[in-house]
This record gives sequence, structure tokens and C-alpha cells, in this order.
Amino acid sequence: MTRSRVVIVGAGFAGYQAARGLIRHRAMREETEIVLINPTDYFLYLPLLPQVAAGLLEPRRVSVSLLATLPGVRLVLGEVDGVDLERRSVTYTGPEGDRGTMGYDRLLLTVGSVNKLLPVPGVAEHAHGFRGLPEALYLRDHITRQIELAAGTDDPEECAARCAFVVVGAGYTGTEVAAHGKLYTDVLARRHPVLRHRDLPRWLLLDIADRVLPELDPRLSRTADRVLRQRGVDVRTGHSVKEATRDGVLLDTGESVPTRTLVWCVGVRPDPLVSAVGLPEERGRLVVGPDLMVPDHPDVYAAGDAAAVPDLTRPGAYTPMTAQHASRQGKTAARNIAASYGFGEAAAYRHHDLGFAVDLGGVKAAANPLGMPLSGPAAGAVTRGYHLLALPGAGNRIRVTADWLLDAVLPRQSVQLGLVRSWAVPLDTAAPELPRRPAQVAPHPAGPHPPKGDPPS
Ligand SMILES: Cc1cc2nc3c(=O)[nH]c(=O)nc-3n(C[C@H](O)[C@H](O)[C@H](O)COP(=O)(O)OP(=O)(O)OC[C@H]3O[C@@H](n4cnc5c(N)ncnc54)[C@H](O)[C@@H]3O)c2cc1C
Repeated sequence: MTRSRVVIVGAGFAGYQAARGLIRHRAMREETEIVLINPTDYFLYLPLLPQVAAGLLEPRRVSVSLLATLPGVRLVLGEVDGVDLERRSVTYTGPEGDRGTMGYDRLLLTVGSVNKLLPVPGVAEHAHGFRGLPEALYLRDHITRQIELAAGTDDPEECAARCAFVVVGAGYTGTEVAAHGKLYTDVLARRHPVLRHRDLPRWLLLDIADRVLPELDPRLSRTADRVLRQRGVDVRTGHSVKEATRDGVLLDTGESVPTRTLVWCVGVRPDPLVSAVGLPEERGRLVVGPDLMVPDHPDVYAAGDAAAVPDLTRPGAYTPMTAQHASRQGKTAARNIAASYGFGEAAAYRHHDLGFAVDLGGVKAAANPLGMPLSGPAAGAVTRGYHLLALPGAGNRIRVTADWLLDAVLPRQSVQLGLVRSWAVPLDTAAPELPRRPAQVAPHPAGPHPPKGDPPS
């Protein structure tokens, strides 16, 4: 007898929790093969990514091994690029370019989201997003390099440009990148005598909205705004970038800011795979019912950022794109898929927001657990405690804690390894989880070897 097969596409918050939920179902696990297709062999805990970019956490701390923590799940490394709803199969491309097809009895799409672009001249060419580990590693090295180059130049204009960092988008991603980034560059600048006495480095955080963290409780906005300004971040709400060039940005005020760093955190859009499936969408998200099943397709489910899930706590709205919702939807999807095989009962997805936590670096944070606004060290403790509870993998939790403790007593490690170059992390990518390969790989008789050297970043 052939085993039935559940295929989960994407091992982010929703996919990871769905796989975990399915393997916990013993009877289900025995009768059904659970396949997880993902481009990487790890689940990435995105909320701690700004701390990777600031050299506080090592990248493997926030990367949870799928094989080690999901025993019984068959991991297929690859990126799905097609779904055949008639034949009930998906096609994918593996990490070495090999193509594959995988049939399914139940399909769960949890492919998340990618950087959102806006039609601002020069941004696609000169800005970098912040959605994956390669971008965080690039930014960490790039920031470090800018400070080192600034310290080494005799040209005051070049020094000022290299020490200016512009972040567009003051949602939780941009706010955390600027907050942690400023602390990091201050540490770096203190090590260079020529920078120590100048009013550098300079961080600008821009948002077209009238407050930072515009999508969150205004009390969190006020706390974050205060901490950022006290730290010296130049917060410009109600403003944005009109144009970006290699040497700087032009603001909508007409002000020109010479800089070599533009971080684009204006938001995310659902992964383009959703459109390729050819099912009804709502703003690029796959339409599903409260049970996370695609209407008229009882064998297809979707959850997380990629799915438009009705928010039963706010009739007429869809659940926001947050980890909090994605991971809970993953659990509900697992429950409902198991129920479709006769194990347990299906349930509708319903979740009241439990609040939000924004880590601002040092001991500072802005948080509102269960609606209670907190700031200062209390918020910092709650935020870090929350991340430790939410991060899967005991080994990862212990290592993250160790990094935090070490950072409190040791100088931050700041060497740049330069392994991820600018061209490898374009803003407009459908796969922010993978660095792009060299565009022109010269054919080599012995196989596909990338060219030596590295084009200028
Ligand atoms: C820097 C940052 C900080 C954040 N901080 C917070 C926070 O503090 N709190 C909060 O609630 N939310 C936060 N978010 C948002 C949160 O991370 C997302 O809402 C959440 O990750 C969505 O989960 P998901 O499972 O839908 O997608 P993801 O977690 O993005 O996972 C998608 C998975 O699908 C894979 N995938 C993509 N395309 C394919 C394909 N074609 N084939 C196979 N696999 C594919 C990806 O590699 C990835 O593993 C943050 C986001 C960012 C970027």
C-alpha cells in the first residue's frame, strides 16, 4: 500500500509549525509521508535578524536545523516554481540546478513574502532589502567596511558619506535595523581615533507615515521614537526618498544626503509563487477560508504571509503578516490536514493579537504584552524572554542567550568577511533566502564553476 503524502512548501513560521504539528500526530505520521520543500535546510527566526546585521548574534544562532528538529519529516531542498492542481504535483529546482517533481495528496503553501519595491528611481539598483540571512550578512559586512573606509580616507566628504546610513521604512524591521545599527556603528567608530571626535556616524530613519511603527500601538511608537532620538538617530516621519544614486539619496524635501548605504524596509509583498498557482488572490495573498483551505480545492491549504486568512476577531479584515499569526496558522493547518484524514476535528483559525515586542538594542525595547505598554529594561527583558520562548531548538536558544551574555561583557566582534557581495543580494528578488549566483558564469568543461574574483560591489 502506498502512503499518502502531505507536501508543505516553505519552512518559515507557518510551514515549520505545520510540520511540527503533523509529526506530533503519531497515527498521522505512521500512515502519511510528510514532505517539506524549502530552499534552505534551516528555519530562519526573522525577528532576530537585525541583531545579526549588527554583529550581536552569529547567523547560525537564528537558523534552526530542519533535520535536527523535525524528525520524521522528509526534507527536499529546492524552490517550488510550479503547482499543477489537476495532477496534484509541484515542480521545483534544487540547489544545484536539478529539477524535480513531487506528487501530493494534500498541499500546504507557506512560502511567505519578499521585499516590496516602490517605483522610486534608482532604488532597485542602489538599495538593499532586509528579508533574508544573506541580506543581513551583507549589511553587517558593508556597514563595518564603510566605517573602516571612512576612517582611512583623508577626504572629509567621502568620510561623511560612508558614515551616513539611510533606512527607509520605520515599521518594526526598519526601526530595529536603525536602532541596532546605530549602536553597532558607534562601537566601530569609537575604535578609530579620527572618527571618535566627530558627529559621526549618522543614521537617518525615514517613513512616509506620521510616526515610527505606524502599524503598532501609538504608545510603542512614542517609546521607539524617544529611544531612537536619544541615541542620535535622525528620525524623519512624513518623508521619504525621491531618488537614489550610487553616491546618495535625494529626499522629498529636496535635501540631498550623500551616503553609500540605503536599506529598504518599506514592507513586504507575498512570494510571487502565489500568483503562479493561478488561484484567487487578495492583494497577492492566496484566498483561503477560516479553515485555511483554498475554496473548491479541498486538498490545498495555505497559511502565513502568503495567505489571505479571514481575521475572525476583526470581521471583514485579513490577519496581518506577522510571525505571531503565521506560526499559529501553521498549527491550525496541521490540525485541519490531520482532520481531513480522519484524525481529530478541524477548527477555524481565530487568534487575538497578544501584543508586539520591538527590540531596540542595549537593554531598550518597546513592547505591549497582552496590551500592557512597557518601555526601558522591563520591555527589554520581556522582549528577549519572548524571543527565547518563540525560537525553536534548545541549542539555538542556549547559543542566543550565550551571545547576549557575551555581548554584555566582551567587545563586539567586528571583522568583515566580505562573503556576501552587493550583487548577490539585489532588492528585487523572489528568493531573499538565497544569495544570487554570479550572473555570467563562464561555461567550464569540468562543470559549473563561478568565475574567480568578485565584481565591484
Ligand atoms: C527583519 C524582520 C523582522 C521581523 N520581526 C517580526 C516580529 O518581531 N514579530 C512578528 O510577529 N513578525 C515579525 N516579522 C514578520 C514575520 O517574520 C513574518 O510575518 C513571518 O516570517 C511570516 O511567516 P511565513 O511562514 O508566512 O513566511 P516565512 O517565515 O518568510 O517563511 C517562508 C518560507 O518559504 C520559503 N520559500 C519561499 N519561496 C519558496 C518556494 N518557491 N519554494 C519553497 N520554499 C519557498 C522561504 O525560504 C521560507 O523558508 C519580521 C520580519 C522581518 C523580515
